[in-house]
Amino acid sequence: RFRAWVVDKTATGQSLTFGERDDADLMDGDVTVRVTHSTVNYKDGLALTGRSPIVRRFPMIPGIDFAGVVETSTHPDYAPGDGVILTGWGVGESHFGGYAERARVKGDWLVPLPEGLSGAEAMAIGTAGYTAMLCLMALEHHGVRPEDGPALVTGASGGVGSVAVALLARAGWRVIAATGRATEADYLFGLGANELLDRASLAQAGKPLAKERWAAAVDVVGSHTLANVLAGTKADGAVAACGLAQGMDLPASVAPFILRGVSLLGINSVTTPQPKRRAAWDRLARDLDREALAAMTTTVPLSEVDGVAETILAGDVRGRTVVTVS
Ligand code: NAP
Repeated sequence: RFRAWVVDKTATGQSLTFGERDDADLMDGDVTVRVTHSTVNYKDGLALTGRSPIVRRFPMIPGIDFAGVVETSTHPDYAPGDGVILTGWGVGESHFGGYAERARVKGDWLVPLPEGLSGAEAMAIGTAGYTAMLCLMALEHHGVRPEDGPALVTGASGGVGSVAVALLARAGWRVIAATGRATEADYLFGLGANELLDRASLAQAGKPLAKERWAAAVDVVGSHTLANVLAGTKADGAVAACGLAQGMDLPASVAPFILRGVSLLGINSVTTPQPKRRAAWDRLARDLDREALAAMTTTVPLSEVDGVAETILAGDVRGRTVVTVS
């Protein structure tokens, strides 16, 4: 038997309970994992509270990512004792997820835990940090360089934002951190930010084109903020868009695209193919400063994960939250 959180449908919405489950309850898969760590991402907040329809099958064990150790495997790439990471693929949405001491999944979804990275560090990075790396890789692939101008990060004090600030700084960018939390200035400068921008200055409807201020951007906010980020991007610059903390809409004009050659790069971490996944994790293990990672991480036990859900949706979680599972 193992302990797990379970989300279920009720007449008025959904319920969330913590209790014991039987191994026979686990879903199909060729690898069974003893989960050691999970984490709380924005999407987990949505799933745990039912604020958005993230969970697509009931009952569901939530938790969109985990790190752990293989217990049994019939997959050729994995053997008992191997350290593994799982992010995305509908885990915690349509397949039982990481808020459980045990998980059974498709081996094809897993990534080997890179050398030099612990399970706790992997989940300090988690889906959020891995997405920040996908954003950096997309910007680099597009061809923007630190010599072209600064890089803007929105939602900078959050999970994706904190890792993005640290990664961009490490890659040589001058980083502008947009945040609503002036109290986190020291935290953001500590991660490598060079300049802060009040997020309120990006939050309202703005002009189609604004003063050119950054050559690259990582946006986790969407809506008017993303429209203003595009409007302030330098000619031939690029914006990696991965989030919707302000909204799903994009009230923008095509002016930045057709008058300045600005590019909008979409980032989807859920179904990224294996080679890119492994490249991102290997680079995170190599390039993400461990002191910065520790500075952005808070840890909670599995039994307290429900308490973080409302806090992250309110935008009040700083950096990343690791969940200690077993
Ligand atoms: P998070 O830790 O809550 O960070 C989001 C940050 O955005 C907050 O900390 C806050 O930063 C800022 N923010 C919150 N509400 C805002 C608002 N109304 N207007 C402007 N800024 C606001 O969440 P996360 O886990 O990093 O995820 C961030 C976003 O990326 C979410 O929308 C998530 O769904 C998305 N995401 C997408 C993918 C993908 O595959 N595309 C993967 C991971 C995450 P400040 O306090 O510093 O302003």
